[in-house]
Amino acid sequence: MFSKILIANRGEIALRVVRACREMGIASVAVHSTADADAMHVRMADESICIGPPPSGQSYLSIPSIISACEITGAEAIHPGYGFLSENANFVQIVEDHGIKFIGPSAEHIRIMGDKITAKDTMKNLGVPCVPGSEGGVPDLESARKIGGEIGYPVIVKATAGGGGRGMKLAKSAAEIDTAFQTARSEAKAAFGNDEVYIEKYLGRPRHIEVQVFGDGRGNAVHLGERDCSLQRRHQKVLEEAPGPVIDSETRARIGATCAKAIGDLGYEGAGTIEFLFEDGEFYFIEMNTRLQVEHPVTEAVFGVDLVAEQIRVAAGQPMSLKQDALKVNGHAIEVRINAEKLPNFAPSPGRITQYHAPGGLGVRMDSALYDGYRIPPYYDSLVAKLIVHAQDRPAALARLHRALGELIVDGIDTTVPLFNALLEQEAVLTGDYTIHWLEKWLAEAEL
Ligand code: ADP
Repeated sequence: MFSKILIANRGEIALRVVRACREMGIASVAVHSTADADAMHVRMADESICIGPPPSGQSYLSIPSIISACEITGAEAIHPGYGFLSENANFVQIVEDHGIKFIGPSAEHIRIMGDKITAKDTMKNLGVPCVPGSEGGVPDLESARKIGGEIGYPVIVKATAGGGGRGMKLAKSAAEIDTAFQTARSEAKAAFGNDEVYIEKYLGRPRHIEVQVFGDGRGNAVHLGERDCSLQRRHQKVLEEAPGPVIDSETRARIGATCAKAIGDLGYEGAGTIEFLFEDGEFYFIEMNTRLQVEHPVTEAVFGVDLVAEQIRVAAGQPMSLKQDALKVNGHAIEVRINAEKLPNFAPSPGRITQYHAPGGLGVRMDSALYDGYRIPPYYDSLVAKLIVHAQDRPAALARLHRALGELIVDGIDTTVPLFNALLEQEAVLTGDYTIHWLEKWLAEAEL
């Protein structure tokens, strides 16, 4: 087992990894920018080291600084958290070249899943259901028109290098394909320096269902059911839950087994998430995330596992402790992402926390890096806390969420808490009856 791990991240996720390390008797090293000298992850880790000025390009994304921090502190492994360098294959290669263990999959697997056409091709060959669409990239307008006609409208043109919802254009009919193809291409070129695009059937009212998988890198893999993350704003998840309100145990076992087999056949190591759109009872693969997800705690709650500890164990070469037969869903868990943002426009709201009180009690978990007097710097992601509740079923989890939100105090800045209070009064949320478009439509009319 490792004796010291460096965490190449900040905020609540860095703290999450510090906690797992402490329980496993492993020393933790926090890295931080000058803007984060007072951050909670720095205070809680065993050691900390400054890696640069506030802009992430010069600190949390600076590969030389992070490698140097490892060498100075003698850390043997790096946990990347999510975001920043977590899905950067080049970083993983450099880490391994320096004799440091990257806690996560190989550079090769990250590379495969980072290119959407290759990812889709790979998944299709592994027997994972995909959205009908073009075979690989679409080279020119003529092919785009031909493929659009074959698939049938509406279709969506997507950048192979895409991410964060960018480089995607909808064509509702044949009349729109020329514009969709050309704008997707030029946006992709501008945003990713790669203008390759592909075409898929557009699903009009899907849910977002993702399957948590875990592999040991030696061909063994398990699945830990699904999460439903259909409540999204600008392709960003705001509330996630497990199990999915519309997935029954037979469906879970079937899609889970397909995903676990694919991951085992790949020889994938560590935690991963296979994301699907789900419509009319069918799953359609959209992408795979080769890292721990923000919403992993809902899976931890219902399966009673520690995914970060498991990542560390497997990275250290120990056998996976997760056994498929022993993994059973227990109850229902919901997570809400609390951002430092001002409603109704979700404008960033950094600043000083004048009073902070975290909710507690049965079935409540607060993953947050906030504390009394903390000054949230303006340079980074606005996610400041994740509130996760676990109860025997969905109605009880919703009641617990309502109760816990009522106990939370975050003064001095604006947060997205009022959004969740309002959502908990909506019939669609209470019944779980929504698609990925519901939240945007509701927000357009809601008075927040
Ligand atoms: P990104 O990596 O940019 O987030 P994804 O492929 O994950 O791109 O897609 C992001 C979102 O775009 C999905 O969650 C969904 O809302 C929408 N989307 C993607 N593909 C389709 C499709 N074929 N039909 C309908 N919506 C889609």
